[in-house]
Amino acid sequence: LWDKLNLKLYQDLGPLSFDAFVAPLKPIGIEDKRFLLAVPEEFADKIIDQWNQEISMKFVEFVSNETGTFIRPEFQRSAVTQTQLADGPQTSLTTPAPSEEHIPFSQDAGLNPDFTFEKFVIGSGNENARAIAQAVAEGPGKVYNPYLIYGGVGLGKTHLMQAIGNHYAKTNPNARIKYATAEDFLNDFTNSLRKGNETNATALFKKTYRSLDMLLVDDIQFWAGKPQVQEEFFNTFNALTKANKQIVMTSDRYPNDIPDLQDRLKSRFEQGITSDIQKPDVQTKVGILRNMQEKNELDIPNDVLQLIGESIDGNVRTLEGAFHSFEAKIRFQNKPATIETAKIILEEINANKKPVITVERIQEVVADYFMQTVDDMKSSRRQSDIVGARHVAIYLTRTMTDMSLPQIGKAFGNRDHSSISHAFTKIEEQIEKDTRMKEMVQSLAEEISDGQ
Ligand code: ADP
Ligand code: MG
Repeated sequence: LWDKLNLKLYQDLGPLSFDAFVAPLKPIGIEDKRFLLAVPEEFADKIIDQWNQEISMKFVEFVSNETGTFIRPEFQRSAVTQTQLADGPQTSLTTPAPSEEHIPFSQDAGLNPDFTFEKFVIGSGNENARAIAQAVAEGPGKVYNPYLIYGGVGLGKTHLMQAIGNHYAKTNPNARIKYATAEDFLNDFTNSLRKGNETNATALFKKTYRSLDMLLVDDIQFWAGKPQVQEEFFNTFNALTKANKQIVMTSDRYPNDIPDLQDRLKSRFEQGITSDIQKPDVQTKVGILRNMQEKNELDIPNDVLQLIGESIDGNVRTLEGAFHSFEAKIRFQNKPATIETAKIILEEINANKKPVITVERIQEVVADYFMQTVDDMKSSRRQSDIVGARHVAIYLTRTMTDMSLPQIGKAFGNRDHSSISHAFTKIEEQIEKDTRMKEMVQSLAEEISDGQ
């Protein structure tokens, strides 16, 4: 059971997390619906924390499926080190768990040391963004401020942004750098308001963010329709840029396509530079796979990497997922690193993917992108962003399904077929005129048929 479970967790978590959070554990046995696991004291806090966050669920689900009973993991802290644990006798394992300890909040920059320029493979889809990132990392606050990296999910925005931070941290060890997701920023801000002035939390918040040398904010589309946090960020932004401090942001869409983003923020963002990241071409994908095999010390022939790179038509995250499935087959099922094995995992991936394209799916994906509800899209409301979403969804339904105009009308809140055909023509014309519209519709169509 433990071995099967390891394979499953390895596939789900990937080698890095697996090595950090699962590999150090030793199974002791099952007792009273608890799966006892020895965890070396030196890593215990981190490992248990990570299990609470994401691994326990997978564990319980899998073990319950296998055994038919609900069994939960339970940790026993062990004073011995990891290597002793691996070889040593099992009797020395149990020391009682100490009372809950608090890990002090660390003031570090929040950067992942793996996200470096060195590990970022350059290709036609990202070379511009990469070049500007390098310039920003070498001359922060000087050349391109703010720098906004724009691109779809899993294309390397976070990686590139953190590479800027990591490079700057390495060359200027005293620099104050902070990486925060837009959601972190919002949470820090609201927490500081909740704690209020008594504790000086608001002042502390401002001090933390406004005294930085470099602020990296990830996924700012999260602030759509949240005026308070936008207001606060506007102030932070001004304070930092006035002092020539660098701001880097990422977004999965252009600022103009973020609903209810304040105009003054948009115009501030335009003072800097924006670059986009597009899907990787085959060569880039193969390069990324080659890096991964080296990092994981595997020996996979080039034609196998080539086949995987050609066949995975998605983002880099999907590509990494495919690599890990392949790696798991080799490591745990003793399959050879061949084309045949690659074909097996590619088939499995395809079987899991490809959703059926229905008008409901199109409406959901489009509503999600425009941050509207499907109900609003079907309603008679004429507010401009709802109309925009509705028209795009109608256009995609017309091009991606066999539905007739009256059928589409019915699916969009009983509209008559002439308004459907009007919406279709309108988008068709805009696609002709406006490349951004074209790109947006294309990437929505891909998302609808890829099911990522
Ligand atoms: P995003 O933030 O755009 O959703 P991420 O930066 O999280 O995407 O990238 C997803 C994964 O793909 C990460 O593991 C990242 O390291 C990897 N990745 C993306 N682009 C590249 C690249 N050009 N070279 C190497 N790895 C990449
Ligand atoms: Mg990201």
